[in-house]
Amino acid sequence: MVDKSADELSMTASNSPTAKIPLSEIRTEITSLDSKLLQLFARRRELSLSVAMNKEASAKPIRDQVREQELLETLIAKGAEIGLDAHYVTRLFHLIIEDSLAVQRDYLQSRSNPQESISNVRSIAVLGGKGSYSYLAAGKHFSATENTYLGFSTFDKVLRSVEQGNADYGVIPIENTTSGGITEVYDLLLDSKLSIIGEEKYPIKHCLVAQHSTELSRLTKIHAHPEASRQCNKNLPRLTSAEVSLVSSTAEALQLAAEDTTGTIGAVASEKSAEAFGLKVLLTDVANLKENTTRFLVVSRRPQKVSNQVSCKTSIAISTGQKPGSLAEVLLVFRDADIPLSKLESRPIAGKPWEQMFYVDLAGNADDPKVAQALEEIAKLCRFLKVLGCYPTEDIDATKVSPQALSRTKISSFNGSLSGQSENTVQPAPSESASENQQSESNSKARNYRLAGRPHKPEDTVIEFKGVKIGGNDFAVIAGPHQVIGQDQIDAAARFGSDTGISVLRASCFKPQTSPYGFQGLGIEGVELLQAAGQKYHLPVMTEVTETESVRSIAEKVDLLQISARNMQNYSLLKAVGEVNRPVILKRGLMASIDELLNAAEYILAQGNMQVILCERGIRTFETATQTTLDLSAIPLIKEKSHLPIMVDPTYAVKNSAALFPLAKAAKAVGAHGLLLEFSLEQENRSSQTLSPDTVSQTVLAAEEFTQLIHSLYQ
Ligand code: PEP
Ligand code: MN
Repeated sequence: MVDKSADELSMTASNSPTAKIPLSEIRTEITSLDSKLLQLFARRRELSLSVAMNKEASAKPIRDQVREQELLETLIAKGAEIGLDAHYVTRLFHLIIEDSLAVQRDYLQSRSNPQESISNVRSIAVLGGKGSYSYLAAGKHFSATENTYLGFSTFDKVLRSVEQGNADYGVIPIENTTSGGITEVYDLLLDSKLSIIGEEKYPIKHCLVAQHSTELSRLTKIHAHPEASRQCNKNLPRLTSAEVSLVSSTAEALQLAAEDTTGTIGAVASEKSAEAFGLKVLLTDVANLKENTTRFLVVSRRPQKVSNQVSCKTSIAISTGQKPGSLAEVLLVFRDADIPLSKLESRPIAGKPWEQMFYVDLAGNADDPKVAQALEEIAKLCRFLKVLGCYPTEDIDATKVSPQALSRTKISSFNGSLSGQSENTVQPAPSESASENQQSESNSKARNYRLAGRPHKPEDTVIEFKGVKIGGNDFAVIAGPHQVIGQDQIDAAARFGSDTGISVLRASCFKPQTSPYGFQGLGIEGVELLQAAGQKYHLPVMTEVTETESVRSIAEKVDLLQISARNMQNYSLLKAVGEVNRPVILKRGLMASIDELLNAAEYILAQGNMQVILCERGIRTFETATQTTLDLSAIPLIKEKSHLPIMVDPTYAVKNSAALFPLAKAAKAVGAHGLLLEFSLEQENRSSQTLSPDTVSQTVLAAEEFTQLIHSLYQ
């Protein structure tokens, strides 16, 4: 399918009149188009500013997600008419919308804080000098103004220079997605008179850098900031035997590498900062985890006012005392006032052993009467309360496009095998009319699965990750190729999946074969390719785990783990996935009863991992016409017994894709929370039986069929 469309493209290119025009002329036209595009972007920005002025008068919030979604979906449809793919249009307009929101936010902020004139030169205190991550983050945050930077060797000195008026603002890191909160900064903020007035999330890409003449094999020492060193401590020793030496800032590490005359010294720093010091990158991306972002806080002597049209956050520090339940009482105040919390961090209090200071970030404006009243309320429950600041939030969630809209742009009319079927899906409520006998039987069984059972949790569990919801009223499609075979294959699959509007990309990397000499899957290398493809196309990813030892390292790389049918009662594996904080799909075993499935889920829950999704994939019966008999009657039954989401994998219960369509629709009709499907973009692999015994009787859809199926499901 991918190859075919590439062929089609080159066909149109060679047939089109532009192919005959000399290259120089084509380039001239491109250059002129690009400058027109720039002018259009600038004009669009001006209009965004007018929108902000207009909204200021009408007091409307700057974020209007319904309008954003409509805008994006209309653009995708229009783009499709002129040959632009949905993915391309979405990516372009996410950037444009994000910029527009930032322009509006900055305008409203400048109006709320007229004293902070943006035309002034600002001086900003940061840790380390040019090249440090604080410096780069500060540059991003204050990109609209001309700034001077003051570099310091400790966080304490950064804050003091702002307090003493030597700098206007300070930019300091507060937490990192890999290594967590920076405890020293929390303690310093508590004692400081400064207010938090902004935040900046900056992606960290640690590289190993050195002088141009230095070779990796000759390195003996690598200078690194302790935080950077912690974030690379597992991966770096695998790449080099050089010793890590801790220094007070990344800028100092860079300086030491730049002064090296022996050709043996390196530093951990970003690519940008290496350039600033005339150094080269020896290895890119040396951190333990690829997704690595640091959140920086911007502090100032004066608290800032946040316009009530701008989404904002308030950070507070509280000490609740030692009365049992006192923290719970505080949290209940926020719950009752409907104020979401995005962070709760605790730190010991100096001189008061076993007492804690809690740092809380809440969504809301401290000037909003609702928040102000809640703060007043909790002040009564606390020994100490300090508002650290109220500031515009950095999180601008990308506008979501519905799978319906995406699938509409792919096919205008559906001609599949569903004619005559009802278009309406029914979401049956759990039956309440079970007989008393059934009731008492199910109660005694329910005791076995204490945590998985409805009595434990009457409301549906909804499992959320990366914007995907599985459970409740949501319907999710998890799909992808059977296995990861290579980068091009999984990239194309991710792109296709994202265009089609699937929720999660699946592909296996560990595939035991009937013959020990067969292809066993790409292993951890495959997981990394899957992770990268998911990141590139903004799709969460799922893969199967087969061994207890690798559960943890795989869980770090994917968003969802799968336990296959053959491993449903592999209790050590169930326990291992129960110990990690990652959602798990548990497939029903080939010969397992519903009761056994729920008990297997209980194994995972009992270890502490409450994020279990069940999956019906057919069971063995006397019927041999298909590999399995899909037990759809299990869906309403399981929904009655358990609060856990239940999905369906219909692909083993059918011989061909025509039969898959009605079965998929039936799964949705009986109330499944989603489907697991397989597609293959490479025609020759669809019927291949060399990959894995699991594929033998499994129906793998071609791209076209898959798109049709998704379209029909969301009709
Ligand atoms: C799979 O889909 O990768 C798989 C192993 O399926 P099942 O566990 O349903 O056989
Ligand atoms: Mn399968």
